[in-house]
Amino acid sequence: MEMMADDYDTRDILRPLVFRLHENVPAIVREVLLERGWTEFDKKEQADADWNLYWRNSPFRMTDHHSIKPWQRLNHYPEAVRITRKDYLARHLKRMKGAYGSALYEFSPVAFIMPNDYVKFIAEYSKERQSVGRRPSYWICKPVDLSRGRGILIFQDIKDLVYDCTVIVQKYISNPLLISGYKLDLRLYVCVTSFCPLTIYAYEEGLVRFATEKFDLGSLDNIYAHLTNTSINKYGASYEKYKEGIGCGCKWTFSKFRSYLRIFGADDTLLWQKINNIVILTLLAVTPLPVASNCFELFGFDILIDDKFKPWLLEVNYNPALCLDCSIDDTVKRKLLHDIVELLNYKQIDTLRQNQVAGTKTDRRRVPWSTTGESGTWEAPGLLTCRQVAKCTSASSVQPSVHPLLQATRRSIRKVATLTKKTARAHPRKTLTSELRERMNMPKIPSQAKAEAKNKQLPGAGHSPHKSTQLSHWLPTPDFCNYELTTRPYFLSDKDQRPIPRVGDFVLIFPFNEAALQASRDGTDVKSIIKEINKLVRKQLPSKQQNTKKRVGYLTSV
Ligand code: ADP
Repeated sequence: MEMMADDYDTRDILRPLVFRLHENVPAIVREVLLERGWTEFDKKEQADADWNLYWRNSPFRMTDHHSIKPWQRLNHYPEAVRITRKDYLARHLKRMKGAYGSALYEFSPVAFIMPNDYVKFIAEYSKERQSVGRRPSYWICKPVDLSRGRGILIFQDIKDLVYDCTVIVQKYISNPLLISGYKLDLRLYVCVTSFCPLTIYAYEEGLVRFATEKFDLGSLDNIYAHLTNTSINKYGASYEKYKEGIGCGCKWTFSKFRSYLRIFGADDTLLWQKINNIVILTLLAVTPLPVASNCFELFGFDILIDDKFKPWLLEVNYNPALCLDCSIDDTVKRKLLHDIVELLNYKQIDTLRQNQVAGTKTDRRRVPWSTTGESGTWEAPGLLTCRQVAKCTSASSVQPSVHPLLQATRRSIRKVATLTKKTARAHPRKTLTSELRERMNMPKIPSQAKAEAKNKQLPGAGHSPHKSTQLSHWLPTPDFCNYELTTRPYFLSDKDQRPIPRVGDFVLIFPFNEAALQASRDGTDVKSIIKEINKLVRKQLPSKQQNTKKRVGYLTSV
């Protein structure tokens, strides 16, 4: 007999959700979860799988992904580091520019990875120097795997360029939007609830981070004038002081910034649309990521706006800072975390976790899987293989009508699973850490490996130039493909099995229309998605932009 939620003892159903934190997770994560009535996982007292959310500052081990249970979520996707390391990001964006044209992918400053691109950089540098009437560019040199402004150097003359590790040398945006003479950038929070099908939420609230001394190209070594990192500016002499037009400290909320822009007649909505396009185009550059269920990734996108009101992507942060340096941090980050938990879409049944179902550990049983009365078949301890997922969820007794999006998810899962089986035989098992270490130590895929990888394209990937290059570069490895996937992606609404359009201040920005949804269904059809984005961009270019350009001149001089 099928058991429904009502068959359980209500005392069980009212059990709290349980979080598990790895060391060094910012205190606010614990605070928010406790505020929500969650309890903390106790390794000594509780069974291994008796938790609902595991939060770490570093990637999970593959075994954590393999053993994920339907009631659990992990705060990292495997291989998210593909866009969060500066050199990886630069390489992916360059490839996309080559495949889809620089018109769409011109939001990232030209970058060279050193020492590999040294010759190319010199060529570009010399070309500029030789062109008559052109002012030579400024450049910024950043270590690829450092954060918080550490090791950064800004220069105009090549004789000032020094580095002793892998760095990227990027064109320095020397005409930033200034408010009262201070440089600023935006920390945009983006949550990806799935890379397959791609599902992206942008957070409407966020942080504007100011430099604490006035922008001045005459003093390139003044970090308080050129870098907007809070980790730097909080130690500046002007941090605590009241700065005209900015206030004390070095932060505003997006809300305040947007009101400010509106006062000066700048089109903040158009700016936000452009920023959302940047986010989508950037994340498209790293799809497909390995298939993994019940994960999410919170990214911090750093966006700089220039005096022509053009947003530029500076970098994408893994584990964006959740420390609280000021009351603005508290307001924004606390609500952000609450909204993330909402986005994770826990159901009452999730509080039961493994051992709570009928108080037994049977090998195979049916458990209710949503409060709306739908049910699924789960193989203990709670997972199905891709094939089983397809079989089980297509059975009418389990789910009478399956939304096409869900069907598509399953199809793409099956595709990857087929590939897995083939590749798994040929490769030894690797851990995520060894996998990443290997990749980090390997700046470029050797040409032979490239050729081999090309031959192993996923079925159906041949028709798109993007797909083939991407898959050959990042061919799923046996481990990544060996996932056992849960039947119901947590990020789909119960009502219509589509991504929920808004959760708190999180707004769904991808898929943004029906065509984009279709294109992200059966494996990501990047070509079709790019076509849709091109249409969108054309629509977003009203004559209004001209007005904005004129007025921003005024704004920057304020
Ligand atoms: P980190 O990971 O060390 O914070 P970022 O790439 O975010 O490195 O750079 C730190 C700061 O330097 C940014 O917040 C921004 O203020 C400034 N910056 C970085 N790249 C550029 C650039 N290309 N043009 C102008 N300013 C930049």
